[in-house]
Amino acid sequence: MSTIDSLPPLRQVIESHGLVAKKSLGQNFLLDLNLTSKIARQAGDLSECDVLEVGPGPGGLTRGLLAEGARKVLAVEKDSRAMGALAEIAEVYPGKLETINADALDLNPLDHLTPPIRIVANLPYNVGTELLVRWLTPKDWPPAWESLTLMFQREVAQRITAQPGSKAYGRLATLAQWRTQATITMELPPEAFSPPPKVHSAVVHLKALPEPRFPADANKLQSVVATAFNQRRKMLRASLKGLHPEIEEVLTSVGIKPTARAETIELEAWCALSRALQG
Ligand code: SAM
Repeated sequence: MSTIDSLPPLRQVIESHGLVAKKSLGQNFLLDLNLTSKIARQAGDLSECDVLEVGPGPGGLTRGLLAEGARKVLAVEKDSRAMGALAEIAEVYPGKLETINADALDLNPLDHLTPPIRIVANLPYNVGTELLVRWLTPKDWPPAWESLTLMFQREVAQRITAQPGSKAYGRLATLAQWRTQATITMELPPEAFSPPPKVHSAVVHLKALPEPRFPADANKLQSVVATAFNQRRKMLRASLKGLHPEIEEVLTSVGIKPTARAETIELEAWCALSRALQG
């Protein structure tokens, strides 16, 4: 374990603050500060950015972000037991770390930050996917943030970056890739965490595009794609029949075979279909 700051090693921090990992909060902590710095670097140069970190826990990634020179970090953590450990980090980086003890699903911390904003987090699966969907579906685009650098179960990371024709391709891939450039930048084995989870993990970096790749109404696109992938084994003329009385004609008019299945349809065709259904 390397020393990136004057603070004690994370194992000691966890022990002294009684941060026994809670399963209910999805707590699998990163203890290697080399690794947390490496994850922080996946978010690019942070010296001119405010960073939102959700779920800092004992602060391994927080320390990585600050050591890598983030202008400011706002850390939102649900577990009140972690606040003491985070306060010690704030002392070593005066004026740079603000913490909020809250459920990240209950507030919009982006209001507390000054652009440019980047979001970096190692979150439990359920909360992570829900927050990702929220961050990808703001009222206006471009969003308040420049990029998201998020740790997920490897399987979820694959669903975000999947291409048509693969099993992982679905709603999350189309939602993410419509308005961001999404790439897996790191993979981590279970042993990187304490306690080790059952699955491998991966970091996905999503860079907001200035505008969507193809025109479409966000709500319409989401509902069409969700309807199609809800019955992904069915042909589109069957899975989408509730969306239009003449769905076969609409599909054909945008160059989609009515007998095709959702997992073969490219993003551009989803956008054309949602425009046709709206028009
Ligand atoms: N960032 C730390 C690390 O990398 O070692 C901890 C990661 S751990 C996988 C997930 C963290 O998210 C835990 O500290 C947990 O308490 C916190 N958490 C879980 N649900 C949360 C929520 N709804 N809002 C904010 N934090 C949450």
